Amino acid sequence: MENEKAAQILFLNPVFKQMIWGGSQLRTRFGYEIPGDDTGECWAVSAHPEGDCTVREGTYEGETLSGLWEKHPELFGNPGLDRFPLLIKIIDAKDDLSIQVHPDDTYAKAHENGSLGKTECWYILDCPEDAALVVGHNAGSREELTDMIHQGKWSELIRQVPVKKGDFIQINPGTVHAIKGGLMILETQQNSAITYRVYDYDRLTNGKPRQLHVEQSIDVITVPAPSVSDSVKSAADLPKNTMNELISCDYYRVWKLDIDEPISFGQDYPFLIMSVIEGEGKVNGRDIKKGDHFILPYGFGKVELQGKMQLIASSTN
Ligand code: ZN
Repeated sequence: MENEKAAQILFLNPVFKQMIWGGSQLRTRFGYEIPGDDTGECWAVSAHPEGDCTVREGTYEGETLSGLWEKHPELFGNPGLDRFPLLIKIIDAKDDLSIQVHPDDTYAKAHENGSLGKTECWYILDCPEDAALVVGHNAGSREELTDMIHQGKWSELIRQVPVKKGDFIQINPGTVHAIKGGLMILETQQNSAITYRVYDYDRLTNGKPRQLHVEQSIDVITVPAPSVSDSVKSAADLPKNTMNELISCDYYRVWKLDIDEPISFGQDYPFLIMSVIEGEGKVNGRDIKKGDHFILPYGFGKVELQGKMQLIASSTN
């Protein structure tokens, strides 16, 4: 019975992305085989056309997540959506990422060929002491925002927020944000890649600056920015051996689990994505370890976890 249940778990092969700001920690800290020492992103659970994960083993071995979504909607509770709604990434930022903002669904639909907007959230896996992220800005009005952007007053405009390992940050559409060098992050996001780049530190790629989207950014940035306490919270020391909800928004629910004794709970969601971010253990008798990502399908029933490990889980709302 245990084995039969474990066989329903969809383990996925990640897709790796090389980036000008990427590093090698996805190999040194997570044990992945990466394509180079500039690997910035591990698309761990993705059905996006730019990086569609395949199933690692079992009945559906080799099938893409987008293919499973189309051919076997019953695995995901027959949600009636045209695409897998979430995208889970691990980001290794050796260098600063560009400063960016995402549109909401309404703006993206009107201006980006019917695309979805993007809401995302970050769990900080690791960071140096005195680390900071860009979350929000300091402009008081849209006029002030426009002036500061056009005049390149970046250090005045951009709000840097101190962060620690285990912090959790929700990035709603319209929030100016950037990951800084030295951070490793697990990102849960809507399945969309629509990003407006506000500023790229005047860097060059192959001798050219990357494209900026200044006017779209000015259109979509929320003014004034929400407060720091509304955006960042600590998730480092939550109660053990239980699902701790970190966020519930229109697009997803995210939980953290910190386990050191056996627990069980019902898989009561359309599907449940789980990422092991620390340690090792078992799910329904099946060995799992740091760096594994899997989906528990619809109707899976009782989930049994044991071992000493930390996980981030997510589902749709
Ligand atoms: Zn983003």
